[in-house]
Amino acid sequence: MANYNNEHNNLFDLLIIGGGINGVGIACDAAGRGLRVLLCEKNDLASGTSSRSTKLIHGGLRYLEHFEFRLVREALIEREVMLSKAPHFIWPMQFVMPLSPAHRPAWMISLGLWIYDHLGGRKRLSASKRLSLIDSPFGAPLQSQFKRGFSYADCWVDDSRLVVLNAMAASEKGAEILTHTPFVSAIRHTDHFEATLKNPDNSERIVRAKVLINAAGPWVSEILKEKVKIPSHSTMQLVKGSHIVVKKLFEGDNAYILQNKDNRIIFVIPFENDFSLIGTTDVSYEGDPADLNISDDEIQYLTDCVNQYFDTKIRKKDVIWSYSGVRPLYGEEADNPSAISRDYHLDLNVEGAPLLSIFGGKITTYRKLSEHALNLITPYFKGISGAWTERAPLPGGDISDADFDTFFKENLQEFSWLPPRLCLRYCHQFGTRINDVLLDCHCLEDLGKKFGDELYEREINYLITKEFAQSDEDILWRRTKLGLKFSDLEVLELKSWLQQTVK
Ligand code: FAD
Repeated sequence: MANYNNEHNNLFDLLIIGGGINGVGIACDAAGRGLRVLLCEKNDLASGTSSRSTKLIHGGLRYLEHFEFRLVREALIEREVMLSKAPHFIWPMQFVMPLSPAHRPAWMISLGLWIYDHLGGRKRLSASKRLSLIDSPFGAPLQSQFKRGFSYADCWVDDSRLVVLNAMAASEKGAEILTHTPFVSAIRHTDHFEATLKNPDNSERIVRAKVLINAAGPWVSEILKEKVKIPSHSTMQLVKGSHIVVKKLFEGDNAYILQNKDNRIIFVIPFENDFSLIGTTDVSYEGDPADLNISDDEIQYLTDCVNQYFDTKIRKKDVIWSYSGVRPLYGEEADNPSAISRDYHLDLNVEGAPLLSIFGGKITTYRKLSEHALNLITPYFKGISGAWTERAPLPGGDISDADFDTFFKENLQEFSWLPPRLCLRYCHQFGTRINDVLLDCHCLEDLGKKFGDELYEREINYLITKEFAQSDEDILWRRTKLGLKFSDLEVLELKSWLQQTVK
């Protein structure tokens, strides 16, 4: 018999494995419906695929070529839902696609964009347009042979903050969120799982849950095979994608979508004011999902594509930062990794207590995926409430009329002692929770010790107490992107301060 040290504290309706977007999305939805939820993440929140995406809330124009109408429609609708839920860190972005005779003909792109405009109930986002790139700011950074193009709208998102804010929302609804706590194993009974988790101090915690949710992204098959020892017929392919960051290649808030020689597309996106984010590659991957680095071939592939279009030429030495992730895609291996569906698949096994495994998915569709997951498991719980997340703002997202510009202006006035650039960052990062971050602060000195590029002690304390941050990496790369602006020495200083201060 297991020894439940504190019986009540270890009994849950759901145990969710994985603190990526799908795990926290399900945790938030379920906790809001009144279920008792425990989520365990082996590292930091969003330390897997969910901080390594292109950071777009998008329908996926390219998926129309693969006839993925269900996915594209759901994703297009979600763009507007997400804009209202989190107007502080999700915003519309215009994408410019230069045309060239070597690539898809204009009529084909025009047809694709017409479908894109009409498939998903667009309200706030602007419709696609034909563009002349001659004497236009959109054409200014491009080589002169690109004279015509199209533009359309999708949305930008800070992917790791989307994860953190869903985890916060789940926790505020009563879920227990554990980071640095790997799921070790589980024994299945007819009406519950008895699971073993490893606490950060290496001790074990044994918990019981009526339903187990395997949202381990690229590790979903490993959990099934090695940790719960339950076979699944669902297959998954890992496809690696890498991004590079360089000094900004152009002025303006728009992004570029470039058609490459191999018929794939590459995004060039304004990033953190001073940089351009370029991605992605698409390479079949069989190694350890935890051990990912961009290869020289991938850097060459991305720089070559950009150099075909932009006047400014970039080389490997211009790469300031890069990151790689693996897409955990549902389906059989294909010759062309870009052709494997980006849709998700929910595998419910009820040969004993229910086990739900999540295969595939996108950042964009996590909320709908979570609703579908809840639809599958609600029959196992009596009297729980229905779907609720569509209109509920994420923490800090309760901005009047979702009007970020007015919200920012009001905060500039209210916190007139803050440098405007810092005020803007706080407004984007925290939304209305800026008031919690700056509670009782009346001047810069009240923010405490300063580290590197305008990171103050006050913000660090908030990230640790409210946003589950623990290390310098959590703070500099997943709660913020200040890592791009910190010197090695400043990182060391922050690290040693955290070691001395945070117990
Ligand atoms: P993950 O984020 O990987 O989360 C799984 C978590 O499980 C990890 O944090 C891991 O540490 C944890 N875990 C594993 N094993 C254990 C264990 N034993 N115990 C506890 N925890 C465990 N989607 C979009 O919508 N827009 C985009 O622009 C976009 N671009 C992309 C670009 C690239 C290059 C890639 C790779 C993906 C992109 N995606 C995009 C897709 C999107 O990023 C993923 O579908 C999504 O992040 C998957 O989330 P997840 O929660 O399933 O997995």
